[in-house]
Amino acid sequence: MRIQIDRLMADLKELGSIGFIPGQGASRMAYSPDFVRGRDFVRKRMEEAGLSVQIDAVGNLTGLLPQAQGTGEKRIAMGSHIDTVPMGGIYDGALGVLSAIEVVRTLREAGWKNRHPIEIIAFNEEEGNVIGGTFGSKAFAGAPLETPMLQKMKAFQLTEEDVRRCKRKQDDYLLYLEYHIEQGGILEAKEKTIGIVEGIFGILRYKATVSGKANHAGSTPMELRDDAMEKTARIITDLMDTVRAETESMVCTVGTMTVKPGAVNVIPGETQFIIELRDKTMTPMYSVMEKLKKRWEDQGLHLEEYITQPETLCDKKLCLIAENTAKELGYPSMRMYSGAGHDLINTSFLMPGMLLFIPSRGGISHRYDEYSAPEHIEAGAEVLLEMVQRIDEGAFEREN
Ligand SMILES: [Zn+2]
Repeated sequence: MRIQIDRLMADLKELGSIGFIPGQGASRMAYSPDFVRGRDFVRKRMEEAGLSVQIDAVGNLTGLLPQAQGTGEKRIAMGSHIDTVPMGGIYDGALGVLSAIEVVRTLREAGWKNRHPIEIIAFNEEEGNVIGGTFGSKAFAGAPLETPMLQKMKAFQLTEEDVRRCKRKQDDYLLYLEYHIEQGGILEAKEKTIGIVEGIFGILRYKATVSGKANHAGSTPMELRDDAMEKTARIITDLMDTVRAETESMVCTVGTMTVKPGAVNVIPGETQFIIELRDKTMTPMYSVMEKLKKRWEDQGLHLEEYITQPETLCDKKLCLIAENTAKELGYPSMRMYSGAGHDLINTSFLMPGMLLFIPSRGGISHRYDEYSAPEHIEAGAEVLLEMVQRIDEGAFEREN
């Protein structure tokens, strides 16, 4: 049994052409007319593959293939999202949904008698430029919504009750598989075809304020200054050094800064910036922030934690199945972590799951020239197809 790569590539290109402007990219933001056109295309493909489709109140599209033998088994779910960022690429998200459809087509054409129902999920609003990141899968899984989302929902006549109605039942599902482009350069650099994702980084964000004393930039000698910007420069350097020393995997970004009063001839009296940390687990990130606080608190640094998103772990058994499958099919693979968020973060509230990656050329995504090679796309879809067969035959049991 093999997937038909030409058919899958044609689907990727056709969905990718919806809302696409050459040289600019694909724009299918949630709820836009182009998003709806794209979803209609995917819906048609699902129906042709024999799935019964449903669109929930927040716009997630699902297609269900009932079990062909036996009764009462839990669903094998596969999917990703079909919305894009403004001027994005054609692979991010779409790859996971269209490959899942190709897997079902292949199984059915080969006369596979599935013991488990198979559900394909095309999530809405994963990218978050309209209501908020992974809104569709949050509703699907019943994950808590952030306050800004509640505000933005109103523009689309969506109520909290609508969102509650989208929540699926934990007992209906066996597991969730998400096949996605890496959106980074690790697989390409290591010359691996398949990334076995063990987890998604947790995120910690702090609002930082550094206080000094604003004063005349000409008449205040250096030894009498309390310059908030100078201290900030030293604090950020210390922060980055501490991060590097703490773990190999942690990443840290200071991407915004406000300087007060903000004049060329006034010594800065205060700076405000956001510190963002990401790592495999939360503990080392808290350790970094504790050290920073201890060293700089009495010199005017004030820290306030404001976003905490714990790490997501992929299921260990599923990682092993994926690893063995890739090996037996002859594709070089490696274990890795995802620095980017995915719908899997939310589906993990409902069921165990795992992420499969393939290389992104140049590590680039969210851009018109995002690209993954057809031979890599084929490899990932083959791994997915083989995994679904093994799981359907009983290779995976849900423990909780
Ligand atoms: Zn994505």
